Amino acid sequence: MTLALDGGTPVRTTGWPAWPPPATDEQRKLLLEVLDSGDWGATSGTKVAAFADAFAASVGARHGVCVVNGTVALFLGLRALGVVPGDEVIVPAYTFVASATAVVLAGARPVLADVTPDTLHLDPASVERLIGPRTKAVMPVHLAGAPADTDALGALCRAHGLASLEDAAQAHGATRHGRPAGTLGDAACFSFQSSKAMTAGEGGVIVTDDDAVYERAWSLHNVGRRLSGAWYEHPEVGWNLRMTEFQAAVLLPQLDRLDGQIAARERAVAFLAAGLADCDGLDLLPAPEGTTRSSHHLALLRYDPAAFGGRPKADFVAAMTAEGVPLDAGYRALSREAALRPHAGPASCPAAEAAEDSVVWVRQHLLMADEDALSDILAAAAKVRRAFRAG
Ligand SMILES: *Cc1c(COP(=O)(O)O)cnc(C)c1O
Repeated sequence: MTLALDGGTPVRTTGWPAWPPPATDEQRKLLLEVLDSGDWGATSGTKVAAFADAFAASVGARHGVCVVNGTVALFLGLRALGVVPGDEVIVPAYTFVASATAVVLAGARPVLADVTPDTLHLDPASVERLIGPRTKAVMPVHLAGAPADTDALGALCRAHGLASLEDAAQAHGATRHGRPAGTLGDAACFSFQSSKAMTAGEGGVIVTDDDAVYERAWSLHNVGRRLSGAWYEHPEVGWNLRMTEFQAAVLLPQLDRLDGQIAARERAVAFLAAGLADCDGLDLLPAPEGTTRSSHHLALLRYDPAAFGGRPKADFVAAMTAEGVPLDAGYRALSREAALRPHAGPASCPAAEAAEDSVVWVRQHLLMADEDALSDILAAAAKVRRAFRAG
């Protein structure tokens, strides 16, 4: 069988489920309600506050503050936890760049720790080696929708008096030992950007159980106002980082759909795991031990060129995409990101760099597909392997 790249027929010619999923009547109704009310901003409307409460309640946290996006949520979370310019915050080297640039935005230095080679999550041993006199916080990232090892990381934070800010941008609905992501650190940040499990195109939220952290985050996102203060009273410098009522209208009905969507992705990942068990050179990476529910934002696969005729990962991704299975090459290791170098300094992160060279992603919307479509992922991988081996 000739590869689609070489003019052959692709394994799959029909598409994949769209993300976000089609809008619901409830979303249309709430959006029009906002539009017709004229209360488009959170300072006059009620939907942002309602969503902040509902989202916080959904993860079992006491407070939520909605903001413009996940990056800003991380920035606010860091500031609310007391991170100030000159501090250091330890972040993993295999994550979206915003985990580190949010630290830069807060005026602090992102210190890049390596990840564990099997799960690609923040490695507690690497974190421990990097803790120094300026370290103020650690940012466990719940990569691909599975919570990081917040037991080991939390113990380190307690032992060294550090704050822990969860980057849960990919982990809506995830749990660790039955406890929801969002309650596994001192505060947590979720994103509602287009690619995330819940989305309004853009948006973010900080959740926390800590009254003081909540009050600080609320103040900073609302131009330094106090919760019960006067309108033009600004005891500290803050910014307008508020979410709009339109975003909240689109988000509110998604809370009820999340569980069903995660269940669909769980079935898809189980199907792929079974199929990949016989697929030489392509392995599904495990979630960290202790994961009781992943939101399956991504399925992470390790590609072994040795099983594919020595061809590099980029060739595999290109060949699969031509076969109608658009896989993703994923992140560059942040230790190789030139823009971060002046801030983070040189970092030794061999596992993150190996991941850049060997890990491919199956994105969330592919994981919403039925088994027919999912078997095309396996068929395409088998076809590409045969062709690459034949040289
Ligand atoms: C998406 C994402 C962010 C940033 O969220 P935005 O809403 O895009 O600003 C931060 N960290 C991780 C791990 C993400 O996936």
